[in-house]
Amino acid sequence: MNKPTPANQTQAQAHLPVARPDDKERAVIIRTRNLRKSYRMGQVVTEALRGIDVELYRGEFICVMGPSGSGKSTFFNMVGGLDSPTSGRVFIDEVDVAQLSAVELAFLRCRKIGYIFQTYNLVQYLTALENVTVPMAFAGVSGDEARQRGLALLDLVGLKERWFHKPIEMSGGQQQRTAIARSMSNNPAILLCDEPTGNLDLRTGSEIHQILKRLNKERGVTIICATHDHRLISMADRIMWIRDGQVERIVNRSEVTVETGSIEGQENE
Ligand code: ADP
Ligand code: MG
Repeated sequence: MNKPTPANQTQAQAHLPVARPDDKERAVIIRTRNLRKSYRMGQVVTEALRGIDVELYRGEFICVMGPSGSGKSTFFNMVGGLDSPTSGRVFIDEVDVAQLSAVELAFLRCRKIGYIFQTYNLVQYLTALENVTVPMAFAGVSGDEARQRGLALLDLVGLKERWFHKPIEMSGGQQQRTAIARSMSNNPAILLCDEPTGNLDLRTGSEIHQILKRLNKERGVTIICATHDHRLISMADRIMWIRDGQVERIVNRSEVTVETGSIEGQENE
């Protein structure tokens, strides 16, 4: 496993203000190299990512910030293997995602990465428990074992008693907690959270933050979280700013002052 030494930095990165986590011995779990993504709609081409070179570390909690349209979701889609870059590379545990077969890519998405979206994306006609166990079925776990694991995960997010509720019978916060339990169904190393509290009120948002923090601290899950929520940012190890499809800077959270409503270097939206 490569250590994050200057020798394996790209030139592009050498010019960027990139902070490494305080713990410098951490292994790289995600590495991108000159990652670019363009979308074409008719005659119009949008360059959503314009050369992203980052190294994200195993076990870190990193928040991704940037104005709407700056490329955060596109970055997540590339890193999560949900869409292919126009050019450039994504390495997960030093494996080039583009070199994976369809089966290997499906394995990666199912086992290694959990996804949490702003809109929860639960299956409406399934119960909370069924939503949580669906990805287990893809990983070959079913029956009693899936049920036990699903209930344990719902317990972890404080919803064990509501295992039989369908999404329409749950609040937004409960749905997002179910979505977190689902994201953990195959014990992933990485959680990609795209504005997970964007649709929630402050108190409910705080419950979600605490769960993410616990998963990071107690289970060592690498958390990569796009957010504008300063309380969530205040929990991060590092903060990365994306602007116009490029990394503007990455800092250790200990180097910036995060206050509710503001953070230096970022205008409020
Ligand atoms: P963010 O998540 O930071 O708001 P996005 O990654 O969603 O930003 O979008 C980055 C840019 O790419 C925006 O200009 C957006 O309109 C464009 N974009 C995103 N997805 C698509 C798509 N599927 N087709 C065309 N343009 C897209
Ligand atoms: Mg987005």
